[in-house]
Amino acid sequence: MAEMTLISATGGALPAVRVNRHWIDGQMTAASDNGLTERVSPAHGVVVSHSARGTAEDAAAAVQAARRAFDDGRWSRLAARERAAVLLRVADLIGDQVNEMALIETLETGKPISQARGEIAGAADLWRHAAALARTVEGDSLNGLGPDILATVLKEPIGVVSIITPWNFPFWILSQKLPFALAAGCTCVVKPSEFTPSTTAMLGALLEKAGLPQGVVNIVLGHGHPVGSTMTTHPMVDMITFTGSTAVGKLISHTAADRLKKVALELGGKNPQVIFPDADLDSAADAVVFGTYFNAGQCCNAGSRIIVHADIAQDFVARLVALTQQVTFGDPLDPATQVGAIVTPEHLARIDASVQAAQAAGARIALGGGLLQVPGLGQQFYRPTIVTDVAPDMAIARDEVFGPVLTVLTFETFEQALSLCNDAEYGLSAGIWSSDVHTCLAFARGVQAGTVWTNTWMDGFPELAFGGVKQSGQGREIGRYGLEEFFEIKSVVMRIGRTRTNWVRPR
Ligand code: NDP
Repeated sequence: MAEMTLISATGGALPAVRVNRHWIDGQMTAASDNGLTERVSPAHGVVVSHSARGTAEDAAAAVQAARRAFDDGRWSRLAARERAAVLLRVADLIGDQVNEMALIETLETGKPISQARGEIAGAADLWRHAAALARTVEGDSLNGLGPDILATVLKEPIGVVSIITPWNFPFWILSQKLPFALAAGCTCVVKPSEFTPSTTAMLGALLEKAGLPQGVVNIVLGHGHPVGSTMTTHPMVDMITFTGSTAVGKLISHTAADRLKKVALELGGKNPQVIFPDADLDSAADAVVFGTYFNAGQCCNAGSRIIVHADIAQDFVARLVALTQQVTFGDPLDPATQVGAIVTPEHLARIDASVQAAQAAGARIALGGGLLQVPGLGQQFYRPTIVTDVAPDMAIARDEVFGPVLTVLTFETFEQALSLCNDAEYGLSAGIWSSDVHTCLAFARGVQAGTVWTNTWMDGFPELAFGGVKQSGQGREIGRYGLEEFFEIKSVVMRIGRTRTNWVRPR
């Protein structure tokens, strides 16, 4: 069998270069110094967008607009059903634009077009779910505090939220945060990655069309510094929600501590999947291949660290190699492509350096390793790679590679497998493959992770919370718990009648 399945360049015409501007206080604007960034398609090597390169002034103007919009209650004090109606209209408008948004997402990220279409359509569903949740918000009432006391707990929107997103799932990750913040009644400033600004910029027009009051969402394009840093340090911001690298997440956490802003972080992972001999090995192998190569492995939830029982390790790796050879790598614009390009040349070099370091440390490359040339396209692709003979203390077993690279470790006992899983700085997700329900349950309870999958991988739903423990982050996104992040809790205590004994005793 061929070493891999390649899809050559489709040769189709690419759309005209897109121009993106900020959307601040309901106005599309250029950068205050007219600066621009340029995005070149990772797969095709051509310019796909020019975007405003935001300044600190632009970011501050966006924060001030969000602050005004929050404080005058134009959104926060609307009835929840009115907020929900706007969010539902946004969902419909996203649904109408799936093809246009997916195309630009593909060109900016390098991800396959079929996958991009699925993500944009799925994102619309996140907006719908947030709309539904907006109308379910309730506090508590405490009726048992004594005959003369009634107390209630109110949930109030936290205020102005800065939302900073990465390049791997630009519109999906935005939609894990923004509609839930809006459902809670917050106002927002959004910054997408400089590499993938277009779908976020396109959203501005959709929000306007859906009737969102101006200033409630403000979109600023540009770099982490100065745009992101202004959004995280500005005194008018109440909360920051960030997805990206652990290093930047920690930096944001430090700077936010100065003003005690609330911080929600969704960072990296080195997610283990444990495979027992009694598992359905066909399904397990397929899920491992999916979990490794989906989005070219540029995925915080990548299942890139498998821990296989020693008795089946050799056969299981052989199965993985054979399956990987059938995965279609190549032109992201071909609907049959399953894995596309790597986001930047710098990131490609980082992936390759990790694989080379593993080899130098004594690991074996069972498949792939090295850059991939797709006929008719550039060289910004990486070969599907499987690394075996890995020791638990090697960097490849511990650090996030964020590329199409699978690391294989082995175990002999359940305790050993669990300990290998938990011997990690990260704790985003974990999985187990076994037909024994007791093994699965013991694993689910013992493993340190925000999500546990048993006999599946990367199944997610708008209803289910998402987030990590340890250095994978803090806080939760999506679902009811995701919404709760955007609330402050206020206790209201009411005395019934004049029953309180005075503190000051008359003399
Ligand atoms: P970053 O953490 O640098 O970028 C994520 C977002 O944060 C971008 O919008 C970026 O802006 C912004 N940012 C950067 N610096 C600051 C700052 N000082 N203050 C506020 N915002 C800032 O991730 P990278 O793109 O550099 O990716 C590096 C690694 O991060 C990957 O290899 C991967 O391991 C991990 N990662 C994890 C993700 C996840 O889903 N958890 C997603 C992406 C990356 P800009 O880049 O536009 O300048």
